[in-house]
Amino acid sequence: MLSQVVELIESKKHFCITSHIRPDGDSLGSSLALYWTLKSLDKDVQVLMRDNVPHAYSELPGAKDVLRVSSVPDGYDAAFVIECSDIDRPGLLNLDKQFVVNIDHHSTTALFGQINWIDSTASAVGEMIYNLCKALGVSVNQQIAECVYTALLTDTGSFHFSNTTERTFKIASELVRKGVKPAHISQALFYSYPYSKIKMLGLALSTLKRDDTGRVAWLTTTSDLMAEADATEEDLDGIVNYPLAVGEIEVVAFFKEISPGVFRISLRSKGQVNVAKVAEKFGGGGHRNASGCTIKGELSKISEQVVSHLQETLGIQPLNGSLNGKS
Ligand code: 5GP
Ligand code: MN
Repeated sequence: MLSQVVELIESKKHFCITSHIRPDGDSLGSSLALYWTLKSLDKDVQVLMRDNVPHAYSELPGAKDVLRVSSVPDGYDAAFVIECSDIDRPGLLNLDKQFVVNIDHHSTTALFGQINWIDSTASAVGEMIYNLCKALGVSVNQQIAECVYTALLTDTGSFHFSNTTERTFKIASELVRKGVKPAHISQALFYSYPYSKIKMLGLALSTLKRDDTGRVAWLTTTSDLMAEADATEEDLDGIVNYPLAVGEIEVVAFFKEISPGVFRISLRSKGQVNVAKVAEKFGGGGHRNASGCTIKGELSKISEQVVSHLQETLGIQPLNGSLNGKS
C-alpha cells in the first residue's frame, strides 16, 4: 500500500490533508510532515481541519498554514486522511466525495479509503510519514523532522508507552541528526502551558475517586469547575494520565462535561488492559491504552456504567454501592 501511495503522489498534483477533530500531536505532526514532504515535491497542497490548532502545537512548522473549514472544497486529486477510525472522524462535509487515502496505525480503522495504508506496528503515523518520505526520495528537512519528532514524542507519551520500539528511537535519532532540538520541542509541548491548565489540573484531581480494589480510578470536570479555573477544553488534555502515576491504579476514566448533559470521556490504562474495547461499547474507539467516547445523560449513571465496564475488563466483580468511590 505504501507503493500505491507513492505512485499516486508521483502521478498527481493537487492534494489536501486532513485528520480527526480536536487534533493532537500525531495527527498534526503527521499531517504537517506530509504537507512539507509534498511541498518539497512542488505539489499543490493544503491541510484542512475542522478545529483549530491547539496552543501546544502552534509553533509546529506550518501550523499557521492549516486552513479551518467545514467542507472539503472541490478540485483536489486526492485527500489524505490521517489517523482516523472512519471517514466521519475529521468532521468535514464533502470528504466522502474525494479520492481518499487512509493512513493510520490503528489496526481497528475502517478501510474507508480508495487506498488504505495501515501499519499497526508504527508507534505513530509520524513514523509512516517518515518512511513515505524516504520512499519518495525526499530529503528530510528541518520542517519535516520537527513535525515527525512531535508525532513520535506525543504518541509514545515521551517514549514511555509500549508502542515505543527500536525503530522509534532509530527514527528519532535520525531526526535529531537532521537538526531537531529535543529540548526545544519538549519546552514548547510540556513547559509552555497557560496558567489555567495547571489550575484546572488541581481542581480535576481534587475530584479523584477509586473503587474498593484501588485499581480503577475516575475524575470529573463540570462547566462550573472549568469556569472556576477559567479553563478551555484544551486545558483538559493530559489530565487523565496523572492518576496512572499511582502504582496500583491500572485504569482511569475522566468525565468531561462539554455541554449540559454531554460528557466526553477519556480512558487510559497500563499494560495489557484494553480500554479501546470499553470505548467501543459506547460508540467511541482508540488504542488499547488510550481511548475515548462521548455519552449523553446524567453523570452518576454514566460514571457507574463506564466504571463497571472498566471493572469487568479487569475481572473485578462490582460491589453494590462501591461506585460512590473512596477518595
Ligand atoms: P483523548 O482521551 O485524548 O480524547 O482520546 C484518546 C484516543 O482515543 C485518541 O487518540 C483517539 O484515538 C481515541 N478517541 C477519542 N475519542 C474518540 C471517539 O469519539 N471515537 C473514536 N473512534 N476514537 C476516539
Ligand atoms: Mn497516533
